[in-house]
Amino acid sequence: MRRAARARDAADPLAHLRARFVVGEDDIYCVGNSLGLPRVEAAERAAAFVREQWGTHRVAGWNRAGWMEAPFRVGDTIGRLIGAAPGQVVVGDTTTLQLHRALHAALDLRPEPTPTKRVIVVDAENFPADLYIAEGVAEARGCTLRRVPMAELGQAMNEEVAVLAASHVNFRDARALDMAELTQRAHAVGALAIWDLAHSTGVFDLQLDALEVDFAVGCTYKYLNGGPGAPAFLYANRRHHGRVRSRTPGWLGHRAPFDMAPDYEAAPGIRAFLCGTPRMASLDAMAFALELIEGVSMAAARRKSMELGEAFIAGVERFAADHELALLSPRRAEERGAHVALTHPRAQPLARALASRGVAVDFRAPDTLRFAFAPMYTRHLDAVESAARLGELLAEGADHDPAFAGSGDGPVT
Ligand SMILES: *Cc1c(COP(=O)(O)O)cnc(C)c1O
Repeated sequence: MRRAARARDAADPLAHLRARFVVGEDDIYCVGNSLGLPRVEAAERAAAFVREQWGTHRVAGWNRAGWMEAPFRVGDTIGRLIGAAPGQVVVGDTTTLQLHRALHAALDLRPEPTPTKRVIVVDAENFPADLYIAEGVAEARGCTLRRVPMAELGQAMNEEVAVLAASHVNFRDARALDMAELTQRAHAVGALAIWDLAHSTGVFDLQLDALEVDFAVGCTYKYLNGGPGAPAFLYANRRHHGRVRSRTPGWLGHRAPFDMAPDYEAAPGIRAFLCGTPRMASLDAMAFALELIEGVSMAAARRKSMELGEAFIAGVERFAADHELALLSPRRAEERGAHVALTHPRAQPLARALASRGVAVDFRAPDTLRFAFAPMYTRHLDAVESAARLGELLAEGADHDPAFAGSGDGPVT
């Protein structure tokens, strides 16, 4: 298996990218779904930003160094990765806040909730923050929130539904929804579709414009490697521009911010969705990360992450049944995002044991291990090795070893 993996690495068109990241030769990092890795020159780039931009231009940098335009410039770069023509993506705030914005905007585009069209449908297994935000928006707008299991979202689309808000790839088990079909079903009943692309951006060949998606939000610190807490993005389809009133009307989304007018008047297009001052240092770090991924075919990235997941699962299947290990993710690569989730009654000690053998994975209470295969820097050999080391540890009984028990590390997001 290792020999076959090495051969696949040798033929991998993305293999050269690994050397561009801060990752050791024997370092198996399977947590790119939580926090992507920095580029080798990321520290120099950050220092250069301070020296050559902030330190040189000072306040004039907002215009002279193009900081004011950065949320839209970087937004357009992300747009190219998600199948969005320029002028429809803005970067800022967090994914949760962007979802808040998108939900309000979508409700504004429907007739004010009436007794017959006042339902927000969310996928019940969605990321907790998405559920909290949807609950809050439903309450504020007098809507009913309906939590529907992922498999039943299609059937849940009826005339009562104003908005469908779902994650394309589930954060826990990596199950991928059919974005094309569900968007179409939502539109067929006069509802709008909002997609959370936190676990899809950078690992799927997304085509938002072609699918006529209404709104989308996503993370940049996961598979886009934008850096811890890097700002999120919002996609608003061009056909909705100028038709929604921002529910977070900030001064930089004003038609003329420097008029300092007491009354809000929306800027045209995607600009109305910008709220406050761009987080420039973080945006610059993200732009640097994107320079690398921009040249990568998303179809090739998707293909590679599917192959890695397949190789990993095939390795795990050799011993899973003997060790209470079960596959939580869909078995078919087409139905799965870029990570693979396994369950085991002693998953947490196993995560620690894997770390001691050079394999970083994440643990989700109570019993889940997630192995992410970020196509930019993960090798076929890593997929095979992480399965093999998990098998070795189980055979040794490491999950019962007191050295790996206890509460240990705090949680990671
Ligand atoms: C990671 C993730 C988020 C993160 O939200 P933040 O507001 O950026 O912390 C949101 N939604 C999903 C589905 C995620 O996986």
